[in-house]
Amino acid sequence: MPRDLDHPPRRPGTVTLLGAGPGDPELLTVKAVKALQCARLVLYDHLVGDEVLALLPPGCEQHYVGKEAARHALPQREITALLVRLAHEGRDVLRLKGGDGYIFGRGGEEAEALAIAGVPFQVIPGLTAAQGAAATAGIPLTHRDHGRALVLATGHGREGQPLDLDWSLLARPQQTSVIYMGVAHLPAICAGLVAHGLSADTPAALVERATLPGQRCVEGTLATLPALAADAGIQPPALIFVGEVVRLRALLAPAMAVVAPSGL
Ligand code: SAH
Repeated sequence: MPRDLDHPPRRPGTVTLLGAGPGDPELLTVKAVKALQCARLVLYDHLVGDEVLALLPPGCEQHYVGKEAARHALPQREITALLVRLAHEGRDVLRLKGGDGYIFGRGGEEAEALAIAGVPFQVIPGLTAAQGAAATAGIPLTHRDHGRALVLATGHGREGQPLDLDWSLLARPQQTSVIYMGVAHLPAICAGLVAHGLSADTPAALVERATLPGQRCVEGTLATLPALAADAGIQPPALIFVGEVVRLRALLAPAMAVVAPSGL
């Protein structure tokens, strides 16, 4: 086929799906920092903090595309369409998400759309919120004696509908369950776990704003946590930890040294 020399095919831009970690900018990976420092165009979600955005170079075009439970700045399908369109225009796009993009970050859907549209992309993983919270709150995610499996689940129900979680998976003994996006449904989640077989005395905790200034942790049992959280006024973003590993916090948290930032 003769080539149209006046209109050479445009090289599509590349999309970088970047996980910015749980909040503390020092928990970014080296690869993430390098990608941030040379970005020209960024689409970012609401869980990406100002200190992370401060690493972008001057002149970098920044677009907030949102993604709070009830208040999407742009519906997901429009975010995905925008990524594809920008890449087809030849722009390199940095798609910035809180935590890890492939863990409740809808990075999977964006990657699927990019693959189908023939847009080259790379994925830079980030620490997920559960890892940040575990490290700073003193709750190991697994432990040979107290938690032999780890389940990351979403506690976000469809609006106006009863919670539809996989209770038999979440209510297994000897495992740690970490529930994302569950604060609004905390009483129903705790009651559901007890109704499906976990003891009401099972240790449970909430970690609010993990790794960020003002991080708080409320600790109790499945029976007591909802009232403790309401008294403390815990707000999203927060994670629910359920399992025997939560007991270790009493020993570990007071013993943890406060390490000064490395200044990297
Ligand atoms: N992709 C993200 C999760 C996005 S879903 C990740 O891998 O961490 C959003 C939910 O993540 C919030 O509702 C909250 O449950 C949790 N979350 C994110 N950042 C958090 C933080 N700093 N502290 C506590 N929970 C957080």
